[in-house]
Amino acid sequence: MAKGAHIAGKWTTGDGDWFEKTCPATGETSWEGQAASPAQVNEAVENARQAGKAWRHMPHHDRTKILEAYAEEVGKRAEKISEAISRDMGKVKWDSLGEAAAMKGKIAVSIQAQIERAGGKSNETAFGSAHLTHRPHGVMAVFGPFNFPGHLPNGHIIPALLAGNTCVFKPSELAPAVAEIMVECFDAAGLPPGVVNVVHGGRQTGSALLEAEIDGLLFTGSASTGTAFHRHFAGRPDVILALEMGGNNPLIVWDPADVDAAADLAAQSAYLTTGQRCTCARRIFLPDNKFGQSVIEALVERARGLRIGAWNEDDVFMGPLVSEKAAQAAVDFQTMISKAGGKPLRRLKRMDRGGGFVTAGVIDVTDANNLPDEELFGPLVQVTRVKDFDTAIAMANDTRFGLSGGLISDDDARWLQVHNEMRAGILNRNRPTVGAAGNMPFGGPGLSGNSRPGAYYAADYCAWPQASQVADKAERLPAKGFPK
Ligand code: NAD
Repeated sequence: MAKGAHIAGKWTTGDGDWFEKTCPATGETSWEGQAASPAQVNEAVENARQAGKAWRHMPHHDRTKILEAYAEEVGKRAEKISEAISRDMGKVKWDSLGEAAAMKGKIAVSIQAQIERAGGKSNETAFGSAHLTHRPHGVMAVFGPFNFPGHLPNGHIIPALLAGNTCVFKPSELAPAVAEIMVECFDAAGLPPGVVNVVHGGRQTGSALLEAEIDGLLFTGSASTGTAFHRHFAGRPDVILALEMGGNNPLIVWDPADVDAAADLAAQSAYLTTGQRCTCARRIFLPDNKFGQSVIEALVERARGLRIGAWNEDDVFMGPLVSEKAAQAAVDFQTMISKAGGKPLRRLKRMDRGGGFVTAGVIDVTDANNLPDEELFGPLVQVTRVKDFDTAIAMANDTRFGLSGGLISDDDARWLQVHNEMRAGILNRNRPTVGAAGNMPFGGPGLSGNSRPGAYYAADYCAWPQASQVADKAERLPAKGFPK
């Protein structure tokens, strides 16, 4: 049976439109089924609300135990999770295995974060005591992106559940398969029915979820979708929004001694997961001199040498883009940049093997004008040669986004300046821009989100604080000018 919706612990066929996903590497159908209809979405939300009555009152310790058991189940199914993700969106095997491991690892860090950021405290007062506790919001709608279709929704769902919320999860229609395995893991871990519900589908299902009686929207996806969702909930302070969006991420490369190391770090920043990481470097700034030129040449060399292949081939660095449409969009973006004055040093091209396969590109935009401040979610990096370091920082910051950024330099003073001046939530030195730790916050200012970062800080948006003053007995309260 095609599994369109998982409501109150049972899978049912969706009543909405039929859709399918094709593997961008092999062309096989990786998932097919019917989307959940608006009526099914409402039913899922209602079930989540009912299930929440018991879940929120379950002792925190018991909720934690169930999620620890879920972590074990995810660990047992790492291969299966990895394959489902790779088949749907083309990520190479070692990369999707890394995603499966991150899903398991999320549980321990979320438990720790919940204690540290959303725990409680009490102190004695003259009248009795004061207490801080945290309460769940209620029903959280979770929207997943295609590039980390397991790890990122999981990164919202786990802290939401720990805090006592229940969830309705709409997986990306470009990578739906992993959701079914997540449900399998929740079931095996003993999660009560209705605590996590799934509604498959695209925009229509997503819109129905926005219209339903939800208390929170936990979204990871593009800035255009996140901004539209933000508009949708304007004037609704009763719905908590956590929006994790994209970036137009800068990386400055400034005179490190090891040119090869600099080129490695830059290429991995730009091309990991075929450029489909929100933290990938999109713009690289270097000095306009011999050193800058040698790094650019080494970067082009790496782009040329990357092994590109299907998820089930050995020793490949880069898989295809998520779809043929995405591959064509990447080529079109490069054409647009070229028209603005960019000079391709190595072209991003669609490959003969079809599907979503493209080569990795480097384009010199030093003499270009009116470049769009947009995220191209693919393996094309723009390089700019600049006259001095201050210009590099100014240009790096000339973006509406603020997700990730980096400096490759051996010079501590340069790092201090970048650290103080660059506007990026994830800011690395001599590490790829894509490096991020689960026990740190994840997010950035500007169009990259609504300042409710995820990962370590996800505990913050999953619960609201309640402060209480408590006296055991009602006693008369004297006050100046108040009748005795
Ligand atoms: P997307 O915005 O196209 O889709 C995200 C989700 O929203 C999907 O489930 C999709 O079905 C749904 N959706 C999209 N438009 C909708 C509409 N009009 N109505 C209802 N639902 C709608 O994003 P994507 O292409 O899947 O993911 C890639 C994007 O996500 C990139 O921009 C990337 O930078 C960003 N991203 C951000 C982070 C982060 O943590 N900041 C992490 C990963 C990816």
